[in-house]
Amino acid sequence: MKAVVWHGTNDVRVEKVPDPKIINGRDAIVRITMTAICGSDLHLLDGYIPTMQTGDILGHEFMGEVVEVGPENSKLKVGDRVVVPFTIACGRCFFCDKQLWSLCDNSNPNAWMAEKLYGYTTSGLFGYSHMTGGYAGGQAQYARVPFADVGPLKIPDGIPDEKVLFLSDIFPTGYMAAENCDIQPGDVIAIWGCGPVGQMAIKSAWLLGAGRVIAIDSVPERLRMAADQGKAEVLNFEDEDVFERLRSMTGGRGPDACIDAVGMEAHGATLDAYIDKVKAAAFLATDRPSALRQAIHACRKGGVVSVPGVYGGFLDKIPFGAAFQKGLTMKMGQTHMMKYMKPLLDRIQRGEIDPSFVITHRLSLEDAPNAYKTFRDKKDQCIKVVMKPHGRATVH
Ligand code: NAD
Ligand code: ZN
Repeated sequence: MKAVVWHGTNDVRVEKVPDPKIINGRDAIVRITMTAICGSDLHLLDGYIPTMQTGDILGHEFMGEVVEVGPENSKLKVGDRVVVPFTIACGRCFFCDKQLWSLCDNSNPNAWMAEKLYGYTTSGLFGYSHMTGGYAGGQAQYARVPFADVGPLKIPDGIPDEKVLFLSDIFPTGYMAAENCDIQPGDVIAIWGCGPVGQMAIKSAWLLGAGRVIAIDSVPERLRMAADQGKAEVLNFEDEDVFERLRSMTGGRGPDACIDAVGMEAHGATLDAYIDKVKAAAFLATDRPSALRQAIHACRKGGVVSVPGVYGGFLDKIPFGAAFQKGLTMKMGQTHMMKYMKPLLDRIQRGEIDPSFVITHRLSLEDAPNAYKTFRDKKDQCIKVVMKPHGRATVH
């Protein structure tokens, strides 16, 4: 089959690789009909995530048709149409029982690697380094889905792929980020990052009762989407002092909750952001957390900082004193996918949201190497890329 393969920093190729096979009784093989590139994949392209190996198949946002089912899997049958969540979970451990799906104890065969860095391992992830299991990803024509009686969500016929594909990651991620804000009716929610995750967080904040949503980025078309589609008030961090503007927009009090939908590769117009950049380039730092610093600094007393943006290592100069003194609540983590997929499918079916509004590029798998760069460099007004692994794509 064809797949998108990682060959090192800045080197992603489309290659022929062996077809996946059933290995365990609960596995399924999915023929992928649509897959996407995520902001998290950019951390791999840019070499920020350790334990990647040449030859690793990328991708963790995918859906398709079940073509083979292991003998112990009674949930799926051949022909089922499914969206596959990016987290892999056994469904039977202490953490799965508590709906903490991304913290599953049994789905990372390389647990020892994660334990070295984090104390305990988190769940396995598709296409996201050996530290999270070394599982082949879904930017491919087929994928093996482990514990396929737990993760995949069956999709009824009649809903187009584009409308449900983002149940695999960014819609639940934006939704959990907003849910973690414990939104009270009328609350002001400020969101750093208007990438796909930020866009989903904006929509979700409204769904959960926000009174105002303020979105922050520097890319004009992303700010425009946040304003037009997301009905957010928007701030360009290159043109304005974010803290001062947020303070004045909230009558001197600050936003009730702040969402960092940027993560470890923030850009910035402030001194701390330049220092991060130099240190990361010299391998003296693992992450560039300038958006997180701003979110903590800007949040009102007693508010919530919710962090869907991915961080990997040891963060520099986080204003923990401000977080402590202001009595902030901080919530974060990889999304507990299986808790959200079905309720969010219901919202899509009820017509409350159509997540496909973020798609700007519809391509074929062969286009992946260029698409990664276009998306990372925000060229061609790119906000979200979807790819069809079989056959030719339509031109966007
Ligand atoms: P993206 O790279 O497309 O979007 C990030 C956006 O942040 C860009 O538009 C960029 O211009 C903006 N930005 C950069 N620096 C900023 C700053 N200082 N202030 C405000 N905005 C700034 O990525 P995405 O797909 O939207 O993903 C966003 C983050 O969410 C990534 O870190 C990704 O890894 C993470 N993520 C987490 C989960 C999870 O389970 N928690 C799931 C998916 C993605
Ligand atoms: Zn993702």
